[in-house]
Amino acid sequence: MSAIDKARERAREFLDLVTGTPAPEWRTCFSEDGTEEPTGIAPVCLDEGHDPDDGSVYDCCPSPVVECDSDPFAAYLVELLNADRAPAGSAPDFFRPGATYSYGPWAFRCDTVTSHPATGKRTALGWFRFRKSHWTPEQYDEDAWAEGSWAEDNAGGAS
Ligand SMILES: [Zn+2]
Repeated sequence: MSAIDKARERAREFLDLVTGTPAPEWRTCFSEDGTEEPTGIAPVCLDEGHDPDDGSVYDCCPSPVVECDSDPFAAYLVELLNADRAPAGSAPDFFRPGATYSYGPWAFRCDTVTSHPATGKRTALGWFRFRKSHWTPEQYDEDAWAEGSWAEDNAGGAS
């Protein structure tokens, strides 16, 4: 299990205890008095009386409320935490940028994932080789992902 998997698992145990859900959605909030922008982060408050557009923190709001000293930093943390809400151990549904995959004698290093301007279907762009041949540029779409049994190298291994 990688370092982030371990850290996520332990954090989710804590969040489950204090918020009632292991992977709550996060928001920026006004965690300190007198700031013009929201410089803190907190789990989204589900209280009926709390307007979702109201960035304040009240008694109804779940903890932890974390002051970040910076509204860009708070916004960044919210994006990171919300992007990482998928259940632990869920199977990936497409190539992941930065990962290298093997499928029999083939290898594919995914550098980026882009989506078709009209259909929105994803395409992975990267480099491909057969055994120890030269790397050549390659692209794989969602059908290629579904048809192949691409295994991520070092998935869940030491890192
Ligand atoms: Zn609230």
